[in-house]
Amino acid sequence: MRMYDLIYTKKMGGRLSDEQIAFWVEGVARGSAPDEQSAALLMAICWRGMDTREAWALTLAMRDSGLKEDLSSVPGVKVDKHSTGGVGDKTTLVLGPIVAACGVPCAMFSGRGLGHTGGTVDKYSAIPGLRVELDPEAFRASLRATGFANSAQTGDFCPADRKLYALRDVTATVESIPLITASIMSKKLAGGCDALVLDVKCGAGAFMKSIEDARALARAMVAVGQAQGLKVKALVTRMEEPLGWAIGNALEVMEAVEILKGQGDSDLARLSFRLAAEMLILGGAARTLAEAEGQVAGAVASGRAMARFRAWVAHNGGDPGALDDFSLLPGSRRRVAVRAHSAGFVQAMDSRALGLLAMELGAGRSSREDPLDLGVGIQVHARIGQWVEDGQDLLTLHCNDREAQPAAGWITLGPEPCTPQPWLLESVET
Ligand code: URA
Repeated sequence: MRMYDLIYTKKMGGRLSDEQIAFWVEGVARGSAPDEQSAALLMAICWRGMDTREAWALTLAMRDSGLKEDLSSVPGVKVDKHSTGGVGDKTTLVLGPIVAACGVPCAMFSGRGLGHTGGTVDKYSAIPGLRVELDPEAFRASLRATGFANSAQTGDFCPADRKLYALRDVTATVESIPLITASIMSKKLAGGCDALVLDVKCGAGAFMKSIEDARALARAMVAVGQAQGLKVKALVTRMEEPLGWAIGNALEVMEAVEILKGQGDSDLARLSFRLAAEMLILGGAARTLAEAEGQVAGAVASGRAMARFRAWVAHNGGDPGALDDFSLLPGSRRRVAVRAHSAGFVQAMDSRALGLLAMELGAGRSSREDPLDLGVGIQVHARIGQWVEDGQDLLTLHCNDREAQPAAGWITLGPEPCTPQPWLLESVET
């Protein structure tokens, strides 16, 4: 078999066989597939697409390229959740303790941030002492002891995805439905969960800008998961503005804790609670959405979810005191206010630009090796549809060593009242 033939077939709009896909992925994992040929094939896939069978074969080949977690020794239906990436998205921090407190084992693998989107593992790193890279035994021990485990997936999992993702990142081939499907679902299948809730982001701040593309991605991921016997449901949710008020690692921990303490009533709380409820249904703890939402509300109101978060942090070496005394979290030395230059209704926000601004301040990385400043970030004071006065604070930048200035026009104001789209656009089960 020759890589050249695979590239030619796909370039001409043909389909690749399971064997051809396995040959390519094995070559990527072993280092025998030259980067320039993989890059050409990735670009051909971006233009020509893949059918369901090809996407499925690519997912399984990537899953099988490395280590697989075996959670069968832990009782119960193990649930995971994945978001396709957004700005200020800290739902995992909120829903993990809630789901565990409701009795469903929550086994989640998370990623680090890259570019304008943050990563859950980086957010957790802001909690002093917390171990964010667990070996399989430590992962299972956390799950057994606290009902909750969350770790970065090490390079031993899906090494082919790691290499291909790095190539996609520098060849403008990230935005492809079959490639995203295989990348995400291979890691989820290797993680060993029994059930998975997907949050597919749609809008200006997301990979999928249109509802048609977001729906197609949701359907593709659900189909691949179900073909492997996973219980899967996807929600397509709006990402036109940052989720919640915080962008930046320690700030996002603070916002998640506020919600777990029942102090937040925001888009973030609504989305996190709904995702948690869907996880309870897939995990068999509730039959209807109303029942599941009641359990979620009870776990928060009773303090059980917050207690579970403290227990999980302590179990994994972190300081639970930092969840009650935010001065123990990394901080920033300077605050810079960004104010409105006129009065008006907030019409639009460039959340991608806000994510990049947080990255420039040091909250994110432009390459995998960049160090992070866990204390910096942005507080967002405006929401789409809200009226703001001339001179009112729109953002507060939390800065340490780096400077960054938001450009005019990142938050668009206008005289016309503006209604934000609903946060939940669709749900996809088959
Ligand atoms: N997240 C992933 O893990 N892979 C993609 O391709 C896109 C988002």
